[in-house]
Amino acid sequence: MITRERRRHELAVRRTTVESVDWLNNAMVRVTVTGESLRGFTADGPNDHVKVFFPNPETGVLTTPEVTAEGLTRPTDGLILSRDLTPLTFRENNSSGLPELDIDIVVHGDDAPATSFATHAHAGQELGIGGPRGSKLVPDGIARAVLIADETALPAFTRWLRLLPPEVKVTSIVQVYDDDAETYLTAEHRDRTNVEVLYREDGPGQLIEAVRSLGSIDDDTYVWAAGEANELVEVRRHLRRDLKLPKEQVEVEGYWKRGIVNLDHHAPLDPSDPD
Ligand SMILES: Cc1cc2nc3c(=O)[nH]c(=O)nc-3n(C[C@H](O)[C@H](O)[C@H](O)COP(=O)(O)OP(=O)(O)OC[C@H]3O[C@@H](n4cnc5c(N)ncnc54)[C@H](O)[C@@H]3O)c2cc1C
Repeated sequence: MITRERRRHELAVRRTTVESVDWLNNAMVRVTVTGESLRGFTADGPNDHVKVFFPNPETGVLTTPEVTAEGLTRPTDGLILSRDLTPLTFRENNSSGLPELDIDIVVHGDDAPATSFATHAHAGQELGIGGPRGSKLVPDGIARAVLIADETALPAFTRWLRLLPPEVKVTSIVQVYDDDAETYLTAEHRDRTNVEVLYREDGPGQLIEAVRSLGSIDDDTYVWAAGEANELVEVRRHLRRDLKLPKEQVEVEGYWKRGIVNLDHHAPLDPSDPD
């Protein structure tokens, strides 16, 4: 029986300062934030996420909800802009003795809060970090993991590779725009797993084909997939309906959806099969 332990974390919205900004390739920017407020930050699960709050692009003012005895309270004025992102790497002490956190953000244009922030980010800006509210740990009792990710899920994919026990075999399928975006994959990834890389520019349909060609999935294998929601509907149907994998063995998460602003990832990926 495959299980994933859940842990709750104390509700927190932390105000941090951008310490550095690194373009990893044309499609991905690493923003490192720091601040005493990050002390005690905890993210134990491979696909944990935080809500990142961005400053108002016109005024530069950061407005975040506040944690009060009643829970999260919205201030009466100020623009709250937030998106879900993955806390890639947390270090308790940087060279100045402060905690710091790396977040990798996909840039896909310039007209949306996360991508616009990442494109123009510079040291000294404020950023709010809400959560994670909880963590779902790597599954217990597995011999193999199949990991399927697009660009937005590469930080979580990296965390999976770091957190899975070394004896767990890993099969990976990664879908990126082009060979420039593929440069995100480094020795850290390639030394742990063979990665089948698909390029979006080669056309649709490759993802489901790659997943089908995995063949049958043993009952000691866990499958995690995250990326563009529409593309993952077929993947999920194949895993759950064709291969009849129980939900304990599969997690398929829409991280974004073409044409939808700030996708609610808690909504069912496949409305015809919401379990
Ligand atoms: C649990 C979780 C973890 C995530 N972790 C990360 C992460 O670590 N790094 C990361 O970059 N993203 C991550 N995402 C995805 C990210 O939240 C979305 O891509 C988000 O929509 C980006 O916000 P935005 O302001 O750029 O675009 P939005 O304002 O939300 O959307 C504007 C338009 O851009 C489109 N769009 C959104 N994302 C993309 C994209 N990647 N490529 C092309 N078009 C897009 C939308 O469909 C919409 O039409 C995560 C999502 C979830 C649910």
